[in-house]
This record gives sequence, structure tokens and C-alpha cells, in this order.
Amino acid sequence: MFIELTDHLRCTGDHDEMFLVLLPDQMAGRRVDRGTLGCPVCGRVTAVEGGVADFGGGRPSEASTSLTAPAIAALLGLSGPGGYLAVFGSPGAAVADLAQVFPGVRLVLVNPPEGIADSDQASVLRAGRSPLKARSMRGVVIGGEVGADLGWRDAAIAAALPGNRIVGEGEPPSRDDLEILATAGGVWVARAMPPAVRR
Ligand SMILES: [Zn+2]
Repeated sequence: MFIELTDHLRCTGDHDEMFLVLLPDQMAGRRVDRGTLGCPVCGRVTAVEGGVADFGGGRPSEASTSLTAPAIAALLGLSGPGGYLAVFGSPGAAVADLAQVFPGVRLVLVNPPEGIADSDQASVLRAGRSPLKARSMRGVVIGGEVGADLGWRDAAIAAALPGNRIVGEGEPPSRDDLEILATAGGVWVARAMPPAVRR
């Protein structure tokens, strides 16, 4: 995982969002290859092995997806480098293509399919509950099987920075803090509303 991603991670324990403390054992450039993430609230320790932070309880995604990298790029409308794009579930399989269509944007893959390795292009996280802080990501992509699990879906939506877009598969969510921009072919696009304009 990218060392700077630590700032956007939360403990998956059952308590308020809190920062994690990284103790890197082995680095490869800006990438943590081996280390631990410790929670100052509950003391939980998450291991980073082979660059993958495994919070426990995560299952590799096995579903198919219609969200290809070009489709995601067109729907998210991210322009310019910087920030993080979180991809939940099966669309993370397209990591090489995603890296190409989003140059300079750091990819965070949460529970991607088996065999997707952590790399300089993308941080891989495995977890039974979203380990991303609220309002931390420039864009969020939600694969179908994640979208069908409301707890996961809401946590994924919460990770988007206000004003930025979320692309998901499945039923479009109905929430006060979300403006649905488009739905077609089982895919929805929404914008996370800034707090000032929330109804
Ligand atoms: Zn904790």
C-alpha cells in the first residue's frame, strides 16, 4: 500500500473513526511492503504483507462486472492527477486499464478478485468492513456485489469527498446526501453533496 494512504484508513473495529498508526518494516519506494497498522482506540493490529493490508474478514470478489475502465473514466469525469480513487469489489480486476485511464490518481482496491496484487499502481486492501475514512476519496466505484450489501454500499458512498462522483452497479441508492445524475443498464452515477446543500 502507498504509505500516504495511511491517512485515509480507519480501524474496522466497532468504534468511532480514528486514525491508524503505521509501523513500516519494509518499504519499496513509497510503498509499504511489510508492516503493521495499529489502532490507538482498541489496540487492534492489522498486518501489511506483500503490500496488502488485511483487516480480516474480507472475501475476494467473484462477481462479474460491466464496469470497465473506459466506462468508469467516462462516468466519473475525473480530470487531472492527484487524490485517490477507491474501487470496491470486482471492477478492481481492471487495475492495469484503470491505471492507464487515470494517470497520477492513486488507486485503492478494496476486496478485488483473487490474484490482484498490491503494486505501485494500486493499493490492495482486504477487509470485512470498509477500512476507508469518510470523505477521503476523489472518486468511488462500487461493484455489483458490494452495492447489493447495504452496509458496504453506504460505507463506500461515505468514502467519497463531497462534490465528487460515485459510480455503482445495482439499484441506485436514495439518500439525502447523494444526487443521482444518471442511471442506465444497471449502473448509476451520483454526486456526493457538499454538507451545505444537503436537504
Ligand atoms: Zn480500533
